Amino acid sequence: MKSPAAVKESSGKAKKTPAKARAEGKAARPRVGFHAPIAGGLQNALLKAQSLGAETVQIFSRNPRGWKARPLEDEEVENFKRTRQETGVTPVVIHANYLINLAAADEGVREKSVASFREEVERGLQLGADYLVVHPGSARGACEADGLRTCAESLKAACEGLGLGAFRILLENTAGQGECIGHRFEHLREIVAECPGLRLGVCLDTAHAFTAGYDIRSEDGFAAALDSLDRNVGLAEVRAVHFNDSKAEYNSHVDRHWHLGLGHIGAEALRRVARDSRLSHAAFLLETPQDELGDDARNLAVLRSFVEPEPLAAVNRRRKGETKG
Ligand SMILES: [Zn+2]
Ligand SMILES: [Zn+2]
Repeated sequence: MKSPAAVKESSGKAKKTPAKARAEGKAARPRVGFHAPIAGGLQNALLKAQSLGAETVQIFSRNPRGWKARPLEDEEVENFKRTRQETGVTPVVIHANYLINLAAADEGVREKSVASFREEVERGLQLGADYLVVHPGSARGACEADGLRTCAESLKAACEGLGLGAFRILLENTAGQGECIGHRFEHLREIVAECPGLRLGVCLDTAHAFTAGYDIRSEDGFAAALDSLDRNVGLAEVRAVHFNDSKAEYNSHVDRHWHLGLGHIGAEALRRVARDSRLSHAAFLLETPQDELGDDARNLAVLRSFVEPEPLAAVNRRRKGETKG
């Protein structure tokens, strides 16, 4: 991990304008996508992403609510890899299943969690995914410091002997619901620091940060949150952003994602996050509700309008002109 001073040097510069960033050959905006369903085969997530114009995708590689996972067949792995090449959707992010608790004080739960997480890593490697997102877990029955240490030990145990190559595990910040750790960026730093031999990164969830007490609604609040993230883990290590509005209120420690612009964070603040060049290297992924047909397309359109270098109204006017012409 970089020292805070080194991190500041590299990322504390003034914001680049999109034109300037383009001229320097850097991406002016992040790649955008969403969490896509895998019903009917893993490759269907890639096809759905492509059909909605997403550039990146997040999936579960298995049922997220069961301990047992059916091993991947060679054919489905090949299918997935071929479809990925055809669609060009990248990076591919896997979200680990919800039963895993790497910070568990209960030895039985921890053992099961380590085994299940190892399986998640192996599946990610098989599929050629880029990132595996996991929550640090819940330290119920133990203090926070012990929970953080246990999480780090579990990560190391789960990855022992596996050649990760370019594959990276991303620790996601949490809302701090119940006794979940990971709601302070300091927690993520401590876990990373305890695992010097592991390729770890961070996934920033906007809704979790907001309800955990980072008030990203205001320009100053967002700047402070980003500074803290930079000091603790380095913004370059933020490989993915879960881009969600929040149905739960500020500082409520409740984890309830909501449609962009309709929650307590709001469109103006989310737009600021999406347009910040210090995060534009990360994959922006929606985890907004998928209750009605078209929810993904609508939220993706909003996200795309946020990251477009020109105002959405201008884009629409231009598109209208094109179709008429
Ligand atoms: Zn998550
Ligand atoms: Zn998330």
